[in-house]
Amino acid sequence: MDFQNRVGSKIGSGGVASWSESNVDRRERLRKLAMETMDIANDPYIMKNHLGSYECKLCLTLHTNEGSYLAHTQGKKHQTNLARRAARDAKDSSNVQPSLSGTNKAPLTPKKHVIKIGRPGYKVTKVRDPITRQLGLLFQIQYPEIALGVVPRHRFMSAYEQKVEQPNKSHQYLLFAAEPYETVSFKVQSKEVDKGEGKFWTHWDSDSKQFSLQFFFRNERGPILFEGLAPGVQQERAPIANPLNPYSGQTMRKPTYISQ
Ligand SMILES: [Zn+2]
Repeated sequence: MDFQNRVGSKIGSGGVASWSESNVDRRERLRKLAMETMDIANDPYIMKNHLGSYECKLCLTLHTNEGSYLAHTQGKKHQTNLARRAARDAKDSSNVQPSLSGTNKAPLTPKKHVIKIGRPGYKVTKVRDPITRQLGLLFQIQYPEIALGVVPRHRFMSAYEQKVEQPNKSHQYLLFAAEPYETVSFKVQSKEVDKGEGKFWTHWDSDSKQFSLQFFFRNERGPILFEGLAPGVQQERAPIANPLNPYSGQTMRKPTYISQ
């Protein structure tokens, strides 16, 4: 009998009868608790034998009735054996599948099942901003069979975020997705992308079913000023806010295409 863990019991304070009474009370309390919290039908360790009594297959103990078994399941012996069994099961399964480290535990986001129809056609063009000399890329992705109402999406992904290739910090990935097409990804330099006004744009042409995205890498040395301009003098930027967007309608400077 473990007096130390008993609530409201002091050694020597109880009467003579307290031991057996409290023991019965305790078992009854545990039985009730187990009845409330356990589903005996789904307990893998209880077994009714041919004598009508119950056995714990885990501890190899005999019990006269379900209540007795349930009280046993709350006891130290059964709990210890459960913990041992769980530890052994974990070890066994880690031998079978070596990576329990979380990398394989991809989040199980419920995904609606879409039958993919393959990869879209695409064209990638290197471009250079004629003013700042920044290098950039123009992506044109063709989605002739795109699902009704779907607008293509894009996303930059770091080398460490993707799980398809060995991560290489000199690369990042640009992904395009539009159902029912497969998501495609382009590997680009991991230089910082200029998100300044007019430097980054996307356009979905729902008539020609072409998704365009153009971006420039940020110039490491900062914007290059025109020859002849004194340092600190701001070049007038208004008419060239978006010089490379062929969809912006106005007559604007054409991008300088660089052959790949
Ligand atoms: Zn047991």
